[in-house]
Amino acid sequence: MTPLAPALVSETTLATTLSIGRCSVATVEHMMSALVGSGIDAAIIEIEANQGADTVEMPILDGSASEWVQAIASCGRAELSGDTSSATCALLAPLDRPLRVDDPKGTNGFIAYSPGAAADPDVCSLDVSVVYPALGKQQLCWDFDPWTEAGRAAYAADIAPARTFTFESELDALRAAGLAAGGSLHNALVYTASGALYSDQSRDMLRFPDDEAVRHKTLDLIGDLTLAPAAFHRLRGGVVVAHKPGHALNVAFAAALAAL
Ligand SMILES: [Zn+2]
Repeated sequence: MTPLAPALVSETTLATTLSIGRCSVATVEHMMSALVGSGIDAAIIEIEANQGADTVEMPILDGSASEWVQAIASCGRAELSGDTSSATCALLAPLDRPLRVDDPKGTNGFIAYSPGAAADPDVCSLDVSVVYPALGKQQLCWDFDPWTEAGRAAYAADIAPARTFTFESELDALRAAGLAAGGSLHNALVYTASGALYSDQSRDMLRFPDDEAVRHKTLDLIGDLTLAPAAFHRLRGGVVVAHKPGHALNVAFAAALAAL
């Protein structure tokens, strides 16, 4: 078995891909987000690839994490039995110093952590903002609390249903790269330059008409940060400000956290 770690990330274009040797698993972030959002600290993930294939892509489902959350709920959660004192989360102390990482892609995006700054010391406060020409600015201030039943229900209701999205201007490039081949327009919101939905889509598809994009970015952020061992145990009680997060920036922050 290979423990999750930021060092496994081999690709962050559009989705987060992990590689072990010559085997790769693409688009792991929605499943990871659903796991940690459902309060799962420890899980063994077994993935079956088609015979001879070195790369598998996690099912995109409806483009959100809701189906993962439902599947996890149907399995239930169990307390680890026996001596868990050696579990990773017990070994890693909460992060007691600020941490800031700027976007390695050179945008003005950044992720900054302030310890002890959350109004409620038992949650991790997230302040996520995105800016797109077509959508303007969307911001979400939301307390992540996978340690309580109410917090897990809030993740399932507020974050998990937000769908992945793209822009009409990027569709040709996506198709050329083969990345949207299995996707079609049923599991991604496609925004036009004016911020409306692409012609085949109706506004009924929007689950959060005002801010679905930043909610999905929050979903991705939670999933990617989970690459750092015991990430949210270490960030609990603090505030994470994520401005224009993306997979490369998220993974860089996870790597910086894991290195401390
Ligand atoms: Zn995503």
